[in-house]
Amino acid sequence: MILGRVVVASHNPDKVKEVEAVLTRLRGDIEIVRGLTWPYVEETESTLAGNALLKARMACAATGLVAIGDDTGLEVRALSGAPGVTTARFAGPDASYADNVTKLLEELEGMTDRAAVFRTVVALVHPDGTELIAEGALQGAITHRPRGSGGFGYDPVFEVDGRTLAEIGPDEKSEISHRARALRALAALVGSQPAG
Ligand code: IMP
Repeated sequence: MILGRVVVASHNPDKVKEVEAVLTRLRGDIEIVRGLTWPYVEETESTLAGNALLKARMACAATGLVAIGDDTGLEVRALSGAPGVTTARFAGPDASYADNVTKLLEELEGMTDRAAVFRTVVALVHPDGTELIAEGALQGAITHRPRGSGGFGYDPVFEVDGRTLAEIGPDEKSEISHRARALRALAALVGSQPAG
């Protein structure tokens, strides 16, 4: 499958930047188109895949271009896998990054089990009706306080091998992150589709 002009189905500039960085490195046939708009999509599905598809379908329908949507969840073992699919709204419907981080650290106060997984599902929707889904996960641990100034969201409290995702820098995050893994799996799926 040839991709050509692609939109990233997100209104979060931090996420769009990361998706672009990984995708353009992975596939030489991609031109990421910026500046297009489409209606906000409510995350009404109960799975990451369902929500990633909702976002990609909307962006594809509105722009007529191949659209790639992403939905990400943080699964914390001591919280029985929460916040999971509701990670963006953990501290409430209009929660900021800082609100969510504060709520997470409060929920884990006094707990020694800090294990967590970041999981991203990406969905590609093609105007010809093709829909592809791929997943990537990153094992880590929730720190006791935020560290680092890079990345976004929960990055300052998600630690892998002693450093948080906010401490490792964008190039390394683009190599190891849940999002990068999902996009690499998606690129492999795209590569296995017939050209046309
Ligand atoms: P969504 O995929 O936009 O629904 O994001 C879910 C939540 O996880 C939001 O609060 C994001 O800020 C956060 N998030 C998504 N991706 C990342 C990441 O790579 N690092 C840290 N936080 C993230």
